[in-house]
Amino acid sequence: MPDTLPPSPISCDLDFDRDGAQHGFLRLPWSRDDSAWGSVMIPICVIRNGAGPTALLIGGNHGDEYEGPVALYDLAAKLDPAQINGRVIILPTLNEPAFRAGRRTSPIDNGNLNRSFPGRPDGTPTQKIADYVTRHLFSLADYVLDFHSGGKTLDFLPLAACHILPDKAQEARCRAAVAAFGAPYALQMLEIDSVGLLDGVAEDMGKTFVTTELGGAGTTTPERLAIAKRGTHNLLVHAGILDAPPELSGERAEPQWLDMPDGDCFVFAQEGGLIEPCIGLGGRGEPGDVLAFIHPVGRTGARPVAYRAPRAGLVMARHVPGLVKPGDCLAVLAVEI
Ligand code: ZN
Repeated sequence: MPDTLPPSPISCDLDFDRDGAQHGFLRLPWSRDDSAWGSVMIPICVIRNGAGPTALLIGGNHGDEYEGPVALYDLAAKLDPAQINGRVIILPTLNEPAFRAGRRTSPIDNGNLNRSFPGRPDGTPTQKIADYVTRHLFSLADYVLDFHSGGKTLDFLPLAACHILPDKAQEARCRAAVAAFGAPYALQMLEIDSVGLLDGVAEDMGKTFVTTELGGAGTTTPERLAIAKRGTHNLLVHAGILDAPPELSGERAEPQWLDMPDGDCFVFAQEGGLIEPCIGLGGRGEPGDVLAFIHPVGRTGARPVAYRAPRAGLVMARHVPGLVKPGDCLAVLAVEI
């Protein structure tokens, strides 16, 4: 980062170098009608025991995704400093205003935090959060875990993911961490909209980075929470921070790796209407198979429009709401490898 940037307006009441468990806040000044010198208070927890690796664990980057917040509030309440070697920094709800509103984006500035990186200290509140993470938290971390799921409008097979990286040694570290997380599926992800992602900034800074898509539909389930909690435990074990055996799912020892070879993996709606899904989440399509029909609404008699699989693959993500708008992502296909 160029050091010409002004200092962050965000302050933190915790000492990152102190042993023990500390619970506090990132305080982001936010002057507004109902609080002239008010702030956004973003919960943060630091658990440290001596020198050792640091894991930065983030939930609530998008405010309507719940596996990360539940797993990380739970971990922050239970993790005993005596159990660890090194440091765990936990932010269960990084975009706190979006989380409180149950929205993907912030109600303060409509900011999508995961399109706002590396952020700006003199930008919108959402950009200020991104800047603080980039300049003050990534610098402390060896491992970065950023929890996601599909939010209110998408639902995913439970997966942990990494990216193809120019540094092959770093790519191998990220792949090993994804495998260790132990979700049922693991993915080498193709991003359709990569500008401003937390992912790329963490990877550019050399971090061992793991992201997830653990479900979605604006809620969570016991099964998906178990994957999130187990995966967090396993990543800390993999990092050498937690001295414990990894927790296996019982289904299979290794995740099923998926690949997204090209842009044909994404199927987008060209008209609005009522969706009739034909192949559900986890179902397999061959080229030309109908993934979904979109029925025109408003009057009867018109034929539905068929959306077909452009390639063979597993339905890795699906559109959740029953009504579809032009441009909505209807399905994402992935190939088992
Ligand atoms: Zn997300």
